[in-house]
Amino acid sequence: IQEFLVYYQPVVDAVTKKCTSCEALVRWDSKSLGFMGPSDFVPLAEYLGLITSIGDYVLEEACSQCRYWNEHGYPDFHVNVNLSVVQLLQKDVVKNIEKILLKTGVNPKNIILEITESFAINDMNRVLEIIKGLKKLGPRIALDDFGTGYSSLSHIRELPIDIIKIDRCFVIDLGKDDYAETFVRMVAELADTIGVRMCVEGVEYDEQLQILKDMKKVQYIQGYYYDKPLTEEAFEKKYL
Ligand code: C2E
Ligand code: CA
Ligand code: CA
Repeated sequence: IQEFLVYYQPVVDAVTKKCTSCEALVRWDSKSLGFMGPSDFVPLAEYLGLITSIGDYVLEEACSQCRYWNEHGYPDFHVNVNLSVVQLLQKDVVKNIEKILLKTGVNPKNIILEITESFAINDMNRVLEIIKGLKKLGPRIALDDFGTGYSSLSHIRELPIDIIKIDRCFVIDLGKDDYAETFVRMVAELADTIGVRMCVEGVEYDEQLQILKDMKKVQYIQGYYYDKPLTEEAFEKKYL
């Protein structure tokens, strides 16, 4: 399992421009296949039933790292961790995550669990029960890749989420396409109304950043404009 590495991408506060958190993103440095990003192996790992062990490993790494940063001068720094739908539908998911939180000794309030919309479209009662169970442990919940696939605006209201992450595809069209801009603005307004924060990821250009800042309702920015995902060492050097 040492072939799996966790990279960290900064998430920046839109107003203060400070990096207040980061997203943990897995990589696989395979001896036989070479260095791979998650899109090359996560779907296969899900299919083969291996994603839960990989996900547990990433969560443990990210929590340990978060605790270390919290104890070394950054008590409020947060780390975001992705959870696969397959992982979330394991029957002992809440217990399992609780174990990892306890084992690493991290302050769970500094962990943000990212769940995708594709999870939210499962049986609503079950989804609600799992999310509520996770929230009871302390972490915040982010709804990732929002606006793709089977997105439903009612999810924003029905699910006890803390953050919405708008999918990158809307950012690509910012400044070129009114639909994308209106969609982002509308979700930001809705989120603001119910006290949910909004993160926009995939920001690469100054023009996109300006449009988002002008909306005044986007709190967090993530994207190559600031940095690509970095190794733990590089991230720490630059942001902490
Ligand atoms: P995601 O959760 O939506 O993560 C954001 C992805 O967008 C990352 O790709 C990140 O590098 C990329 N990104 C961020 N800003 C920009 C930008 O400005 N431009 C461009 N072109 N890309 C940007 P990455 O690391 O390849 O991860 C892809 C997906 O793999 C993630 O999408 C997530 O769904 C999944 N993934 C990553 N790590 C894990 C993990 O530990 N567990 C699970 N279950 N899935 C993971
Ligand atoms: Ca994510
Ligand atoms: Ca995403």
